[in-house]
Amino acid sequence: RKTIIERAFGRMNPMQKQAVFHVNGPVLILAGAGSGKTTVLINRIAYLLHYGNAYEETTPGSFTDEELALVKRAADGEQVDALSLDYAMHLRPVAPWNVLAITFTNKAANELKERLRAMLGEDGDRVNAGTFHYICLRILRREIGALGYSSNFTIYDTDDSLRVIKDCLSELSLDEKMFPPKSMLTKISRAKDSLLTPEAFLRENESDFKLRIVGNVYALYQKKLKEANALDFDDIICMTVRVLEADEDVLSHYQNLYRYLMVDEYQDTNHAQYRLVSLLSGKYQNLCVVGDDDQSIYKFRGATIENILSFEEEFGDAKVIRLEQNYRSTQTILDAANALIAHNNARKGKNLWTENGQGRPVISYRAVDETGEASYVVRQIEDSVAKGLKLSDNAVLYRTNAQSSAVERQLVRAGISYRIVGGTKFYDRKEIRDVLAYLRVIANPSDTVRLKRIINEPKRGIGDTTVSHVEEIASRVGESMFDVMKQAGSYAVLAKKSAPLDAFVSMIEQLRDCKEEMQLEELLDAVMEQTGYGDMLALQGREGQTRLENVAELKSSLIKYEAENPEGGLEGFLEEVSLFTDLDNLNEDEDRVILMTMHSAKGLEFKQVYVIGMEENLFPSYQSSTSDADLEEERRLAYVAVTRAKERLFLLSASQRMLFGHTSRNQPSRFLREIPENLLEQHDDAARAFASAMSRASKPKPTYTPEIGRSVGVGEKPAQSGGISYGVGDVVSHKVFGRGTVVSMTPMANDTLVEVRFDTKGTKKIMANFAKLTKI
Ligand code: ATP
Ligand code: MG
Repeated sequence: RKTIIERAFGRMNPMQKQAVFHVNGPVLILAGAGSGKTTVLINRIAYLLHYGNAYEETTPGSFTDEELALVKRAADGEQVDALSLDYAMHLRPVAPWNVLAITFTNKAANELKERLRAMLGEDGDRVNAGTFHYICLRILRREIGALGYSSNFTIYDTDDSLRVIKDCLSELSLDEKMFPPKSMLTKISRAKDSLLTPEAFLRENESDFKLRIVGNVYALYQKKLKEANALDFDDIICMTVRVLEADEDVLSHYQNLYRYLMVDEYQDTNHAQYRLVSLLSGKYQNLCVVGDDDQSIYKFRGATIENILSFEEEFGDAKVIRLEQNYRSTQTILDAANALIAHNNARKGKNLWTENGQGRPVISYRAVDETGEASYVVRQIEDSVAKGLKLSDNAVLYRTNAQSSAVERQLVRAGISYRIVGGTKFYDRKEIRDVLAYLRVIANPSDTVRLKRIINEPKRGIGDTTVSHVEEIASRVGESMFDVMKQAGSYAVLAKKSAPLDAFVSMIEQLRDCKEEMQLEELLDAVMEQTGYGDMLALQGREGQTRLENVAELKSSLIKYEAENPEGGLEGFLEEVSLFTDLDNLNEDEDRVILMTMHSAKGLEFKQVYVIGMEENLFPSYQSSTSDADLEEERRLAYVAVTRAKERLFLLSASQRMLFGHTSRNQPSRFLREIPENLLEQHDDAARAFASAMSRASKPKPTYTPEIGRSVGVGEKPAQSGGISYGVGDVVSHKVFGRGTVVSMTPMANDTLVEVRFDTKGTKKIMANFAKLTKI
């Protein structure tokens, strides 16, 4: 055990060691990408758990005679029991539950625990680790009563919050065109980041007519959330701060519990998160934050770099540690990153170096269009696999989610599996949202937004008018909609509709009873059956079938959750879903190419990185090129993207691009010009395109065959065998997937879809012209 730990410590450089061993008082580790910040943070926890904190219990210098004697014997070179020596030197292992580590994603938290477990066994698993939201929810479930919410509160995501904003606007007779709900929500969210209550917000903006309106919407929005016993994402942090500020005993409880506090990616915290950290660490000041001012990329979400820049002032005797050696990338990649970020003015300034060696040049590839760009990426990925890399060593990074589709298309054609992080999430699908809404109403019937979502889905004769009557009454008598519906008969306007309302109420109450007795997956079945939702989908043909399959997929996550968290229950599951981001779903066991935005890539590393869309107006984005501050934020994002690469970096652009349905021609990004030419190898496919157009012109155009879609059976020759040397039953070889047998061939317009059963990679469908198969 000790040896694993010692091996980890032995690898560290002297500056990293200083950071690990300095366990008393505030520490700021301010260092560039790949310099081992996250690694240090993990080793520091291991050190605390294993060796502990000297002088934790006793005052420095107060040794007993026996302790002194033991220390002396050890100093004289005598073999003494290591553990007794630790104790003699007042080293007390820190209990895992006294450590709190805050990470950028929940997945990063799990990795941290895994690495600690590998070093320390069970104890490693017992540290508290998670995102700000996760940690705050732990606190709120226990303490939120003090703020007048009940502990079964629900969490609204952006979509739910927007619905509430729309309700507020209509209630205040405000026009959605004049006051777009999205921008209202952003303003409210910024106010919450700065811990401004509606009252404080109104006070601050008294003289501004428009902001006063925002303040009024904010106040009503907050009132509605409270009535629904719901919190939005920002509330999760704000309310925790409020709970801790409101009661000294509560604060002191958590200060004692989370005695050693560590925060990764500190450059992207906002004011509310800063406040939370400073409250929790207020008593013992055992706070260690790590960050990189050059990687601050969430200003648009309220993050403030001030938190890192003013750390030394805030925390009096803070120890500041800088790391400059990079262990991740080649020197060439680092030189490129250093040169790029040097164009920013607002920075502390540092230069990264490495012993990893020069490595290969950075490739800058200019394609004709987005398809050419994507095919180049696919070719490189195939090459890398042929050289022994895994698919998952390759990551494609882009500025906006919409850019992924061109790359996806080419990957699909080449039969290469990939995973998109972000984008349309599983939990955003309509049927999943609906079913979860049912489960949420079962857990918390006051959840108005979800109640309204499913009250007439499937149709059960409770129309919009009835719903708005119920809502009116609810706000008049100060009860939840659900409670009003329970007594529908006693309100004149509802009398006519009391039958369907009663039926709905008793259905939900029955399901609430089921919840007490059933396993989660049984509860889901009961919901699908009793609400009629399952039947509704079953009647929707193929579309409905897919939706049912998605619900079945939800069921598998329920079963998995229950197995892993026997005590979690419905509330626990719903909470996990609320915090779920696709970033957490990045399962490394599966070998797939990874596609994600540069924002999501923070903290991660890959052998080969392809940054696509390096063009003016896209990256940097059109909006950002007008302001210096915004442009610098884009450049930091470029720095993040570039520093994800360990071995090879490809920067791609296209002379012409179709995005969001428009075709545009853009100059190569200025970020490309900011990288010294001697680090770059320029390629472009104009010449390639010309050559292939010439060869196409000399070949006769394939004629249209009416057989599209018809599969060709064994022994038959495919209808269009232009250039294809194999048939069904033949053994072929593929660059990436190796050896396989052709199962079927289906002629398509200009190509042939070949189905191949590979010896080791399963069965795949491949376009013949695209993914050159050779007959063996
Ligand atoms: P980022 O700013 O991107 O979050 P980071 O500063 O957190 O990066 P890490 O992810 O901790 O850096 O480390 C980068 C890589 O360097 C990892 O693969 C890590 O295992 C390795 N590494 C860190 N320190 C050392 C060391 N002393 N010796 C060898 N490898 C190291
Ligand atoms: Mg890191």
